[in-house]
Amino acid sequence: MTICKTGEDHLRSLKDGRTVYIDGKLVADVTEHPAFRNCVKSAAALYDFQARPENMELMTFTPDGSSRRINRAWQMPRSHQEMVERRKALQAWAALSCGFIGRSPDHVASTLVGQRIGLDVFQRHGPQRAQALADYFEEASRNDYYLTYVIINPQAERAKDWGDQAEDLVARIVDEDAAGITIRGAKLLGTSSIMANEVLVANLQPLKAGEEALAFSCALPMNARGLRVLSRKSYEAAAVSLFDNPLSSRFDENDALIYFEDVKVPWERVFVHRDTDMCRAQFHDTPAHAYQNYQAQIRLSVKLRFLCALAHRISEAIGTTNIPSVREQLGFLAAHAGTVGAMLAGMEAEGTMRGEWYVPNRHYMYSAQVLTQDMYPRIINALRELAGGSLIMLPSSVWDFANPQLAKIIQTTQRAAKMTPGEKVKFLKLAWDAIGSEFGSRHTQYEMFYAGARFVTTGHSYRTFDWNSASGMIDALLATYDLVGELAKEH
Ligand SMILES: Cc1cc2nc3c(=O)[nH]c(=O)nc-3n(C[C@H](O)[C@H](O)[C@H](O)COP(=O)(O)OP(=O)(O)OC[C@H]3O[C@@H](n4cnc5c(N)ncnc54)[C@H](O)[C@@H]3O)c2cc1C
Repeated sequence: MTICKTGEDHLRSLKDGRTVYIDGKLVADVTEHPAFRNCVKSAAALYDFQARPENMELMTFTPDGSSRRINRAWQMPRSHQEMVERRKALQAWAALSCGFIGRSPDHVASTLVGQRIGLDVFQRHGPQRAQALADYFEEASRNDYYLTYVIINPQAERAKDWGDQAEDLVARIVDEDAAGITIRGAKLLGTSSIMANEVLVANLQPLKAGEEALAFSCALPMNARGLRVLSRKSYEAAAVSLFDNPLSSRFDENDALIYFEDVKVPWERVFVHRDTDMCRAQFHDTPAHAYQNYQAQIRLSVKLRFLCALAHRISEAIGTTNIPSVREQLGFLAAHAGTVGAMLAGMEAEGTMRGEWYVPNRHYMYSAQVLTQDMYPRIINALRELAGGSLIMLPSSVWDFANPQLAKIIQTTQRAAKMTPGEKVKFLKLAWDAIGSEFGSRHTQYEMFYAGARFVTTGHSYRTFDWNSASGMIDALLATYDLVGELAKEH
């Protein structure tokens, strides 16, 4: 037996007969299909990275009572120091895709860590559901599962409540018996579901009384009978070559609509049952939401450093680095990356104990979330502004270099002071893939929405800010004078 999960283990686990559709066809094997295989390999590479002897300590730990090491994403930190150690592992994983795999396995592992820390919330919901959650945490962590989640309902008719949407649209409980529940309907947007082992199905959006059939959460293997994955367009399949699309050809984690066609879920995998408030509480009264989005900020901190480096390299490619206004722009961008790094440090330093576990500062996390979903498209815009036409004035594909006549013209026209024409084209293709390609554009949408639209994230920020202590300053100041006293003063 290997000491921890490897890439080969993961690839093998995905050959499980799951039902994935793309371009109207059923996919026989996601590890082989041209729409998915390279990103699946990138996912496997995460496990190979953790299994390397020199990375084992950084990336993994041995849970109590086990001889097998698992990824630190499953670690429930007991102190600030353990939280920082865990974060370093997550950052090292994110660096392997320069932050472009949003739903790497550590995202939903972080949700489960938060829910396991807040097990008391599930206990109030019922001892059997709490036991199911605790047992599932044990199973998922010990096996180092790659989990994705679907916790959002399809948009459909936004003016209607979730319970009033067309029949079979929003996933709901349609039956239950002694063995478990049966669910039917859809959830979005199962990012990374094609390469995950399991999916956590839940409801994060507010529900009202009468919508109890929608109020459940559970975990399912991706090959559960009746679970259908409807992939969006594959940017990986559309990638021209590694040279032309170095990111989309390897890190297109995929997003998919998940449709549950009468999927049976055994009780031991049902964590919330017909309780609308518990749907909220499982994320917000436990530290689950804080933990999963803290992970998202860890990953984003890596991506922003990468984007800053891209900006600097763009200025080198076109020779503008020493123009004062360009330097100013680069310094401004660097301040954004620095801010996110500082916010992460703040979430950790001002964390609090919850029982024996250490949890990140929630308001700092929501502050980062609100600011970064706004920041990301502005950073992308700044990179476009720095680059001008260089991102477009590029050979149609790597094959232009194979034509001697064209190669000669490319050598003449793609000159740069600090790089050869070949290096310049190679780099600018990377920059375009990151910010302008269909893959890059999806990333802007992702960073703006993965944690909820702005009205949702600002709502969390409003809810978690310490208004009382801030207002106390106003009260203290107002208490230093009054109307009667002022009028009594000599005019
Ligand atoms: C690339 C990508 C990957 C994703 N991956 C996942 C995943 O893996 N798992 C998962 O569960 N979800 C995933 N999501 C879904 C994501 O969580 C949602 O997109 C997000 O929560 C926003 O919900 P929505 O798309 O329904 O937009 P909406 O909530 O409908 O918001 C869209 C816009 O409508 C307006 N609007 C709607 N309602 C209101 C209101 N009440 N007040 C004011 N304005 C309003 C606003 O302009 C808002 O920006 C993903 C999304 C994207 C884009």
